Amino acid sequence: MNRYWDKEKETLEREELLEYQKSQLVKTLEIASLSSFYSQRIKKIPSQNNVITFLKDLPFTTKQDVRDGYPFKFLAVPKEEVVRLHSSSGTSGNPTVVFYTAEDIEEWSDMVARCLYMVGVRKEDVFQNMMSYGLFTGGLGLHYGAEKIGCFIIPSGAGNTRRQVKLMQDFGTTVIHITPSYALYLAHYLENELGISPSSLNLKIALVGAEPHSETMDRKLEEIFGFKVFNSYGLSEMGGPGVGFECPARKGIHIWEDHYFVEVIDPETEQPVKEGEEGELVLTTLRREAMPLIRFRTGDLVTFLGTEPCPCGRTHVRVSRIHGRTDDLIIFKGVNILPSQIERVLMSFPEVGKNYQIVLEREEEGDKMVVRVEVEKIDDRYSSLSTLKEVIQKKLKEEILVTPEVEFLQPGSLPTFEGKGKRVIDRRKEV
Ligand code: ADP
Ligand code: ZN
Repeated sequence: MNRYWDKEKETLEREELLEYQKSQLVKTLEIASLSSFYSQRIKKIPSQNNVITFLKDLPFTTKQDVRDGYPFKFLAVPKEEVVRLHSSSGTSGNPTVVFYTAEDIEEWSDMVARCLYMVGVRKEDVFQNMMSYGLFTGGLGLHYGAEKIGCFIIPSGAGNTRRQVKLMQDFGTTVIHITPSYALYLAHYLENELGISPSSLNLKIALVGAEPHSETMDRKLEEIFGFKVFNSYGLSEMGGPGVGFECPARKGIHIWEDHYFVEVIDPETEQPVKEGEEGELVLTTLRREAMPLIRFRTGDLVTFLGTEPCPCGRTHVRVSRIHGRTDDLIIFKGVNILPSQIERVLMSFPEVGKNYQIVLEREEEGDKMVVRVEVEKIDDRYSSLSTLKEVIQKKLKEEILVTPEVEFLQPGSLPTFEGKGKRVIDRRKEV
């Protein structure tokens, strides 16, 4: 069976890929220089030979730059060429807007189709897109990609869980696109509200993304639903989902280098990190017309896995799953902690349900972290709830170096999310 949507592009030799990137970079700089923002930064266009050095001398573009550029400072084509607007979710500040030409939509759809095909989605599949439609890119973005493959698409959007389940049952959904937060809620709803085993549905593949989540969470979801989870990465500023996708060999996320020039930098020193090190992903668009972005700091922290050939046959660079966002970093008692570290520990305990919350408080005796979890069934391994609590606390301490309080709650007591979850409540600044 053909494994590739676009074999030639997906398996380009590294040198050819680099040459292609250079020619696209020159074009991108030309287009970008027509926008009001970049006209200030790009005064001349380099030759293909010098373009990488030229690029690396350009300043980074930040989320704040893009926010300040609202509404049109980043638009690089005449307004009549624009066929669509999308927006970011606004997780870490005011949402940013993104423009698309007809060609941008075409390229984006093709890139998404490539991702879906890579993880085994085919024309025969019934694809239920449970991400919200509208300004958010996760709805229409995946929709157009799946349509290219020829899937039977159910554009259910997010929410209305009862109806989601009915659609799945009545039409035999095989593939879903969902946030990890909503997937956990869906499992809870099926088991507790409907008394249906999640694995009795016909689901085979779940495309899970839009927010940081741990590997343990993915494995847990696979166990509950009996489908295969693939990590779907993207961000509106780069066009939306499809920027990178977990490969079938499970060797990390391939970022499509015929569409993006990839850098991974130390967020403090802004210098490139080495293979195997963690850093912030910085991306430059190579094929976007309406809104090219140059050296965009995504705020997403990954381990740089390099460009060694992948067993899946693809030559494009690999990064780890997103460990978290630079904005999400919790600095607690001088220690840097990412919520996904806490999640990883919690998800390894079958007893503590599928939902959690991290609360940070400022008290007279000092700062306090409370990890709130829902307890489902307690295993025979633990004599009592307090022993379980102690074991969780100990494991958390090993992972994050500080000891949080652990609070047990009844299933269903924590807030649930239809889209991206909000799990950290920082009350330290309120005092
Ligand atoms: P916002 O930054 O406001 O949430 P977007 O809706 O554009 O805006 O979402 C993009 C962001 O979502 C990414 O920068 C990243 O932080 C997060 N994200 C997207 N996909 C994933 C994923 N697979 N794993 C972790 N985080 C992801
Ligand atoms: Zn691969």
